[in-house]
Amino acid sequence: MPRILIIEDEQKIASFVKQGFSQEGFVVDVASDGIDGLHLATTSEYDLLVLDVMLPGRDGWSVLEEIRRHRPDQPVILLTALDAVSHRVKGLTAGADDYLVKPFAFSELLARVRNVLRRAPVHPVEVLCLDDLEMDLLRHKATRAGKSLDLAPQEYRLLEYLLRHAGEVLTRTRIAEQVWDMNFDGDSNVVDVAIRRLRRKVDDTFAQKLIHTLRGVGYVLEQRGARDEEK
Ligand code: CA
Repeated sequence: MPRILIIEDEQKIASFVKQGFSQEGFVVDVASDGIDGLHLATTSEYDLLVLDVMLPGRDGWSVLEEIRRHRPDQPVILLTALDAVSHRVKGLTAGADDYLVKPFAFSELLARVRNVLRRAPVHPVEVLCLDDLEMDLLRHKATRAGKSLDLAPQEYRLLEYLLRHAGEVLTRTRIAEQVWDMNFDGDSNVVDVAIRRLRRKVDDTFAQKLIHTLRGVGYVLEQRGARDEEK
């Protein structure tokens, strides 16, 4: 599931773009100024950034420059209201992969995003593992002790998220936001139910349990011994 960050101060554009991508199955974060956008872009991992040029705090050019210093391969599409050749040239030489002039149709943005993602370099992390649990992201396969795990798409995403953050205590809120892209409702048991299902496949038939519960807090994926199990 591709992750996209939209850095755009115009609320209306940000929300229609976010909604559009969410419906297409992307996980979407939004930042409404250049400073927040740059912070998110350099501390989280995104498959692609949609970056507005005219932004409060720090403009899109300077955000792009700074991102390039940290992440030379980060795919970026610029949004600009300035339909001038000089700006197009500036955008592409500053290292944007593509640009789109406002106003634009969402379908046009989506087509460009797909196009850029196809050209993007393969993510450097291809295999995630912990103990004898392995996820091959290129082949979209998960195995434990060499045995293939038959995971539903959501279970796959959940396990990928847990593995990327192995050893970290993950709250239900964080899991719900990152895996389901939803605001977590404290009464919802969607995360617990999904974890239970995942456990059945990942842990139940193995002596060494990897998914651990921290009562009242959340979950952690790790090799046993580092923390006492509370289940
Ligand atoms: Ca703007």
